[in-house]
Amino acid sequence: MKKIALLGSTGSIGTQTLEVIDELQGFKVQILSAHKNTDLIIQQVHKYNPEFVILTHWDSFKLVEERLKDLSLKVLYGIEGILQSLEATDLDLLITAVSGASGIRPTLKAIELGIDVALANKETIVAAGELVERAQKKSGAKIIPVDSEHSAIMQCLEPQRQALGKIILTASGGPFRNYSKEELAKVTPKEALKHPNWNMGKKITIDSATMMNKGLEVIEAHWLFSVPYEDIEVVIHPQSIVHSMVKYGDGSILAHLGLPDMRVPIQYALTYPNRTTNSFPKLDLTKVGKLEFFPPDMERFPCLKLAYEVGKKGQTFPTVLNAANEVAVELFLQGNLTFLEIPLLIEKVLEKHNPIDDYCLDDLLEIDKWARIEAERQYLLLG
Ligand code: NDP
Ligand code: MG
Repeated sequence: MKKIALLGSTGSIGTQTLEVIDELQGFKVQILSAHKNTDLIIQQVHKYNPEFVILTHWDSFKLVEERLKDLSLKVLYGIEGILQSLEATDLDLLITAVSGASGIRPTLKAIELGIDVALANKETIVAAGELVERAQKKSGAKIIPVDSEHSAIMQCLEPQRQALGKIILTASGGPFRNYSKEELAKVTPKEALKHPNWNMGKKITIDSATMMNKGLEVIEAHWLFSVPYEDIEVVIHPQSIVHSMVKYGDGSILAHLGLPDMRVPIQYALTYPNRTTNSFPKLDLTKVGKLEFFPPDMERFPCLKLAYEVGKKGQTFPTVLNAANEVAVELFLQGNLTFLEIPLLIEKVLEKHNPIDDYCLDDLLEIDKWARIEAERQYLLLG
């Protein structure tokens, strides 16, 4: 039995992870966490019988605590509760499937404790890549990416790392791939929430529409595979069948192909380094017909350009990019910011940032907080 903790079990990745666990068997769920979805987490507790359940939203915590008071499991509150549960349990794998920067502290804690991490939460590695790398070197814990592109790269890379030339990240281009700047200025949250190929949580769906998602993934790839930014390419591939590629020094390109189904990279992260079968639908290339590839347009999608610039600058810029983006996406979803104002707001926050070189986790969390306040301030200044 592989003992696991699943953070963000009520989300898109979280629920699909539980589907994979049901399919594969051989896993014992020790820890579950959610933010506000009390009904679903209570159902999950009854089904998986974990040792700990953690709610990161206070009112939801009080409600779940009351409703589960007759069970023997421990109901805890907040990120502190998650950290406490990680320390108290003997785990084989942590799956970080929460959204946003809330994944930073639990992921770092697991790595420090020597627990391997299946990482869906890319914001953690964008905001705290250097700290994650440092902790990983110290404890030897492994990070197995769940993000489909990085899972694809890992699978293409495993046998022959030394000859690696470039990483090629594929991007669907999102719902507005062919929109002009004028059309982009008018898109609504409802339109942006309709992704052509993937069904995901709200934040990552908006990130996909702005192409910030691909930008975050460029930074994610830099840290996960120790590749310089110059050797990370992005290509638009509207069919989302090729999940990413690795170009070797001899000119050969290895690609990972499959249906756009997150359960496959989730399964690989759960069974790594082994590959097992499943009953999920399989790819039939003759039904797909054609696979297309185009260069990205950084003029129409400046978030991608911003992410490259920030990644190359390093220091604490990526933390600021990530936090400002989270605020901008939330403002857009509430109807308070236009689509094109998302990169504008992020850029303004980045301009105000005084970066630091040598930082610890507390410094980073302070900077994350500053960037969120600054983003709110810049939003008010936009008028
Ligand atoms: P969802 O929005 O569907 O789910 C987010 C999960 O995190 C929910 O369980 C939610 O709880 C919980 N959560 C929300 N806010 C907080 C908070 N402040 N603190 C702690 N937990 C919180 O997101 P996704 O599943 O789509 O994405 C999760 C992560 O995986 C993201 O980092 C995303 O970038 C990454 N990812 C997702 C992919 C996808 O296909 N969905 C693909 C590749 C990467 P509740 O439901 O109770 O509110
Ligand atoms: Mg991805």
